[in-house]
Amino acid sequence: MPPTGKIYDYLVIGGGSGGLASARRAASYGAKVGLIEGSGRLGGTCVNVGCVPKKVMWNTASIAEAIHDAKEYGFPDVAPSTFDWNTLKHKRDAYIKRLNGIYERNLEKDSVEYITGMASFVSKNSVTLGNGEEIHAKKILIAVGGRPTIPKVPGAELGIDSDGFFDLEHQPKRVAVVGTGYIGVELAGIFHALGSKVSIFSRTKEILRPFDPIIKDTLRKEMLSIGIDIVTDSHVKALAKTADNAITVSYTSNGDEGTAEFDTVLWAVGREPLLEKLSIENAGVTTNGKGFVVADDFQETVVPDVYALGDVCGIEQLTPVAIAAGRRLSDRLFGGEQFKNSKLDYKNVPSVIFSHPTAGAVGLTEDQAKKEYGADNLSVYVSEFSGMYNAMKAHKTPSAFKLICTGPEEKVVGIHIVGQGSDEMLQGFAVALKMGATKADFDNTVALHPTSAEELVTLTKANLKK
Ligand SMILES: Cc1cc2nc3c(=O)[nH]c(=O)nc-3n(C[C@H](O)[C@H](O)[C@H](O)COP(=O)(O)OP(=O)(O)OC[C@H]3O[C@@H](n4cnc5c(N)ncnc54)[C@H](O)[C@@H]3O)c2cc1C
Repeated sequence: MPPTGKIYDYLVIGGGSGGLASARRAASYGAKVGLIEGSGRLGGTCVNVGCVPKKVMWNTASIAEAIHDAKEYGFPDVAPSTFDWNTLKHKRDAYIKRLNGIYERNLEKDSVEYITGMASFVSKNSVTLGNGEEIHAKKILIAVGGRPTIPKVPGAELGIDSDGFFDLEHQPKRVAVVGTGYIGVELAGIFHALGSKVSIFSRTKEILRPFDPIIKDTLRKEMLSIGIDIVTDSHVKALAKTADNAITVSYTSNGDEGTAEFDTVLWAVGREPLLEKLSIENAGVTTNGKGFVVADDFQETVVPDVYALGDVCGIEQLTPVAIAAGRRLSDRLFGGEQFKNSKLDYKNVPSVIFSHPTAGAVGLTEDQAKKEYGADNLSVYVSEFSGMYNAMKAHKTPSAFKLICTGPEEKVVGIHIVGQGSDEMLQGFAVALKMGATKADFDNTVALHPTSAEELVTLTKANLKK
């Protein structure tokens, strides 16, 4: 059938982190680019219900903590005051709305045609928005992201997910967070710092399972010590509404049955690809066992000229990863000969957790390093300390750093840090690791004093883990 609608060089489905970045980069090379967004607002998960509003809330929580600490720093009159969740929520929404507008103007500035509607594939090079019109393109990018998974238990709909967290008009007094990935841990920390009573349900004895023990153990102990309840080895079986509008959670923990009452239950049990409207089968695009779109290192799906990246592929689900993959892809497709091998290196991607205190990691965990290099070929340095911010405080918030090195040259292959400031500290150290720095390079760097970061360049034999 001849094309009935527009023909683009590049049609991007999804106006989130990856899609926007790829579309704008492609247009910068002169390609005719269209971008379809189905939610009515640009920016995707990160801007609307992810990194950005989450960081506003984390900042708010940090201010609450500073107010709490102020007395110990000689401000007797600074007392924890009431926090107006509703006012902040509306201010935050207005900020996000401004960002949505900026994203729209950026598309216009870069000559990317912004199309609103939910796209479905008709064939490998055409999509429809359900209005009878077909949009054709030589190349199509799938960048539709993901959404929170809601478990199939009775009453699950009584709970909210991370999207719903940002819809809360008022602060709940008692909160259950089900799931202990970084999103669950972050949102639990925010609720707690702002004064909610928080219980976090973990399927295991741990939290933050994929992270190195220095991060997960330190944070778990700290959460317990500040009064967050961790229900371990637990399985939430059902939610039910009580007469006074609370929610009863029925669960098992360590084999015992239990129930507990909360005002809000937040599911944070994982994320899944947002594919059901897209009809990828009409294009012939395949998914893996977990339902994520299969794409190779060059973001190519099994169908020529159909690409996929970002959360919909389920690998390193982070905004800068989606952005970098999107830009590299457009460089390769439209940027000419010099970019013919352009692709994102998914190795050594740093990530941080906006917990209390923050944490961050780049490279291999100790277990991964043992598997890759063998335990005998590793030297692992550990420093556990209390940062100087605690000097005037009764409660000593912990810091713990781990450096994992391999070979006689002690090449650094893993950095794991938890403690105040870790979020801002890690980026520069990630550059060093990516460049192949050795322990000697760290040692030869003069410390910045008095900081917590200096601990990473002053690790001695005394810090060598036996
Ligand atoms: C609570 C939370 C906190 C987070 N915090 C961080 C953080 O601190 N740092 C970090 O790096 N990452 C963070 N992330 C992850 C980050 O938000 C994602 O990795 C990132 O947004 C993925 O980008 P993407 O382009 O793949 O998808 P998205 O940003 O999700 O964009 C996909 C877009 O596609 C649209 N779409 C879907 N289907 C269709 C269709 N059929 N037609 C048209 N449009 C469609 C969607 O509406 C959406 O706008 C967080 C995520 C969450 C949920």
